[in-house]
Amino acid sequence: MNKQFRSTMAPDHPLITVLVALLVLAGMVLLAIRPSDEADPPADERPASSAEEEAPPPAEGEPDGLTVVDAADVVGAGEAELAHDGGVPVSVTYPVIPNAEPLTDFLERELGREAHAFEAANPGAISFEAEWNLTAAGDGLVGVRMTRVETDSEGAREGYTTYWYDTATAEPHPSTALIAGQEELEELNALVRETAGNGDGDSADPGVIHPISSLYDSMGFNPDGDLVVEFDAGQVASAAKGRMHAVIDAERAGALLSELGARVRDAATVGVEGFEIPAPPQVAADGAADGGGDGPAVGELDPVDEGVDCSDPDTKCVALTYDDGPGGRTPELLDVLAEHGARATFFVTGYPVLEHPHTVRRAYAEGHELANHTLGHPDLAGLSTDGVRSDLDTVQALVYRETGYTMDLMRPPYGSTDEGVASVAEDMGLAQILWSVDTLDWKDRNASLVRDRVLGGASDGAIILMHDIHGTTIDASRAVIEGLDARGYTMVTVSQLLGTTAPGEVYVDGVPDAPEKDAREDA
Ligand code: ZN
Repeated sequence: MNKQFRSTMAPDHPLITVLVALLVLAGMVLLAIRPSDEADPPADERPASSAEEEAPPPAEGEPDGLTVVDAADVVGAGEAELAHDGGVPVSVTYPVIPNAEPLTDFLERELGREAHAFEAANPGAISFEAEWNLTAAGDGLVGVRMTRVETDSEGAREGYTTYWYDTATAEPHPSTALIAGQEELEELNALVRETAGNGDGDSADPGVIHPISSLYDSMGFNPDGDLVVEFDAGQVASAAKGRMHAVIDAERAGALLSELGARVRDAATVGVEGFEIPAPPQVAADGAADGGGDGPAVGELDPVDEGVDCSDPDTKCVALTYDDGPGGRTPELLDVLAEHGARATFFVTGYPVLEHPHTVRRAYAEGHELANHTLGHPDLAGLSTDGVRSDLDTVQALVYRETGYTMDLMRPPYGSTDEGVASVAEDMGLAQILWSVDTLDWKDRNASLVRDRVLGGASDGAIILMHDIHGTTIDASRAVIEGLDARGYTMVTVSQLLGTTAPGEVYVDGVPDAPEKDAREDA
């Protein structure tokens, strides 16, 4: 037995050798680890088991899309349906999250406006549908992405808008608030122009992509933290190509982000579990819920240049106004205006806007003023007030959908207006703008005459009437703008020339204290 035992346990037995070797190795490992217990563990061993338990789940989503957050991971999240009276069928839902009432109210307002604008802008409107999903919920931020389907006589198109909500300030923000400023949005626009496509090899048309809020209304981050910019079907390429998007890598995009944008990125790159907003919002008394901040929002362009003061006696201002367009050659006029740093006002008519939407977008992006010159150019004084309202409302909606801009000015065709038109204009927040210099360009169709009448009629405060649908007026534009430049005029928008205007009131020029001001309704 003993011998057998001894024999079995003999140190030269292969099994014993292995056991001894293992014990020795274990001792070495223990010896090796012991000092580490007293100092910091090596960096690559640090996260190991404890961090795995604490780490949030990874963010979900595709590289070319915005992060997707399951609403079930947001405590108490539900939804509401937009109320809509009459007109085309509207089916819109939006999220309701406990303690985020300002977000709910904001979404209800924005979506109601979108639905109305779709209906007003589309004579062939058939239906408007929209659904929501969340693209961030964490770090005091909520991202809501709306996907809408607009159906009209030409088919169905999908579009996207993404809103951001800061739970600490109770402020909703548009997507452009993720970007630090207008210059950064311009930089982003340049990157997007280079890369935007639909992932199937179809590229967007760079010439129609401008740094304005209506185009950059759906931005967010993919799970890796890259900035994703997405465009509606038909917005920057033919509608058949569908959704267009650009992905700007995290490092490049990082330099363009606002503080909010950087927070949003961080929130969008981690998974969500049991997110909740702990307390009702403390809304600031000054009504910060509109997005707040100083000056115009990123991507919203002001037709008034703060650097120009028309009330300064040393500054001679004139307002060039172009009616009935845009026309096919309006881009040439925009080129000349840009070359000379001159601004103009375009009194656009509905059907040309439908025909040249990208020209409207460009004019806005380049700082010109857009103003309402009716849908079908009727004599408004002969219409019912409902007829006037519906006509003007269509053009307001068309321009709003293209640019995000709500126009402040209108010009009645033929200068024909009356009490009824004035009351509708007042109601809609539109001042009525006539003119003090009539070039009669539509009648003569002669470029030299247009130039002579502009230069002969120009004076400080003048509003000059032209039509950019006539080739001869476009032909005259260089001589007109260079001539005014040489005579020391600053070419400004009507809103810059007039300053604050009163809705409904009639203006013919920007001459201070002119006795005939507001009285020439027969122009
Ligand atoms: Zn006209």
